[in-house]
Amino acid sequence: MEAGAECDSENLVGVMCSYDMGWQKRGKAHNSSTGHGAVLGVATGKVLDFATRNKTCRTCTASKRQNKPTPHDCRRNHCGSSKIMESDVACEHFKRAPARGIKYDKYIGDDDSTTFSHLKTNVPYGLEKISDFIHTKRSLNTRLYNLSQRQKFPNSSVLSQKVVNYLVKCFAYCVHQHKNQPEELAKAIQCIVPHAFGDHNKCDILWCRYKQNPTEYTHHELPYGKDLHGSCLQQALQDLFSEYASPTVASKLAPCLDSQRNESLNGTIGSKNLKIRHYGGSESSDFRTACGVAQHNEGHNFVCKTLIKTGINPGPHCTSYQQKQDQKVSADKQRKATKKFKIRRRQLRLNRIQSTVRNENREGLSY
Ligand SMILES: [Zn+2]
Ligand SMILES: [Zn+2]
Repeated sequence: MEAGAECDSENLVGVMCSYDMGWQKRGKAHNSSTGHGAVLGVATGKVLDFATRNKTCRTCTASKRQNKPTPHDCRRNHCGSSKIMESDVACEHFKRAPARGIKYDKYIGDDDSTTFSHLKTNVPYGLEKISDFIHTKRSLNTRLYNLSQRQKFPNSSVLSQKVVNYLVKCFAYCVHQHKNQPEELAKAIQCIVPHAFGDHNKCDILWCRYKQNPTEYTHHELPYGKDLHGSCLQQALQDLFSEYASPTVASKLAPCLDSQRNESLNGTIGSKNLKIRHYGGSESSDFRTACGVAQHNEGHNFVCKTLIKTGINPGPHCTSYQQKQDQKVSADKQRKATKKFKIRRRQLRLNRIQSTVRNENREGLSY
């Protein structure tokens, strides 16, 4: 339970969570025949609830063909489109939470609003949606890219990939620095574009290096370290960033949370329930998903724990292998959290982008 959590009038504790759905299919996942949805607590990062949806059952199909019913562990529990699975599973989780004394009153979700509107109409308690910061960042990147492709800006700087990266990075810094301060965040977002165009009047001395040292300042991530120029470009960018500075959007952005842990869970489940195999026709898919959830919550040791629960003593090889796997995971986690690693990762990413741009320029139009 979160520290300082309080009960409401109906004796329910509010839990902040993230919800996402994964599909066992590559490419167009929205026509997948199986899917799993999970609710993760933000404070603990553990799976609080999960459920699966299966559209097919091989045994049912076979017995229909042969016209004789076979008793079996049927896992078919969904008909209709795969898109509806996401909101269907979400409603199931959110509705059954009060039975366990909790309610998911704050939830992090992607920008897709269908799930949220379904939740709003079906869930008996009030809930609030927080923007997934990674999704927002990605969509800002796409919007800037589209702007650079669709519109021409005469007498202005080129809105190149480098400039887009710079603006997105400023935006990310801005949100991180004004965590849980929606009003200051809104003001700071309004400063990003003027700052890039060399107007530092409203900048804060805390982050604006021009204000700290006006004589030696250059934008070291903009082309040639120069300010951007051109009033049409500035206006278009300012319009775009102003949308993020509106009070409603800023208050959703301010907690600065994301659902990356759901992605990591989907990865773990994907390593058990392979996308290139079809397990959805039997109970296998459900068991594999459950294993993935167990590994996410308990670590690799879940195998030993399960064996002990069923009355089997795990052998020495099993135990030592699980321990080694868990050690590896925690060492990896520590390494990836260091500043050195993050700087290196960013540098490698920039190198990759640069070499792509160089190659594309050399190859010319290829389709
Ligand atoms: Zn069946
Ligand atoms: Zn500035």
